[in-house]
Amino acid sequence: MSKMVEAEEVQMKKEDDDPRILAISSSIRVVPNFPKPGIMFQDITTLLLEPKAFRDTVDLFVQRYKDKNISVVAGIEARGFIFGPPIALEIGAKFVPLRKPKKLPGEVISEAYDLEYGSDCLQMHVGAVEPGDVALVVDDLIATGGTLCAAMNLLERAGAEVLECACVIELPELKGRARLKGKPLFVLIESR
Ligand code: AMP
Repeated sequence: MSKMVEAEEVQMKKEDDDPRILAISSSIRVVPNFPKPGIMFQDITTLLLEPKAFRDTVDLFVQRYKDKNISVVAGIEARGFIFGPPIALEIGAKFVPLRKPKKLPGEVISEAYDLEYGSDCLQMHVGAVEPGDVALVVDDLIATGGTLCAAMNLLERAGAEVLECACVIELPELKGRARLKGKPLFVLIESR
């Protein structure tokens, strides 16, 4: 059996297991060549138009993370701000936004990371996360893993223990998992 067929079967199985995941997957619009040629943009705004799919997305994360003693949910700008706060409220954790440079008004710590062309940076307020915090990192999608890696570095520099990263979508061909410093990644959908 080729690797491709095996991978397709894994994806099918994940979706077959839970009809909610199939509905979430179908609600995400894929826009070819956005924002530049060659990118298949996974647009989660169409998921937000379907209240049941949006609710199920949050519930699937809450189901996994309740009773895990997570004290902070860190959401990555911008789409981590959509999924992170409802998860944080449901599991009784604080929510901390990890933002692009020059957006946060207080004192910040910064973590730069490489993009395909050039680099970017995430910032977090000093004092938002403290030693002893147990963190969950949330974003909409993992591609190369660079963004999640920078987020984890920020949290660890502030003294938190990162328990896991959670995304709605993974692009497994880009092997972003390998950049997550050995920490687990939980995703609802694998997209090819
Ligand atoms: P990466 O750092 O390469 O894992 O990229 C992840 C970040 O870029 C996330 O914040 C995503 O929202 C965004 N991103 C990367 N690729 C895509 C894509 N194909 N569709 C939608 N968002 C993407």
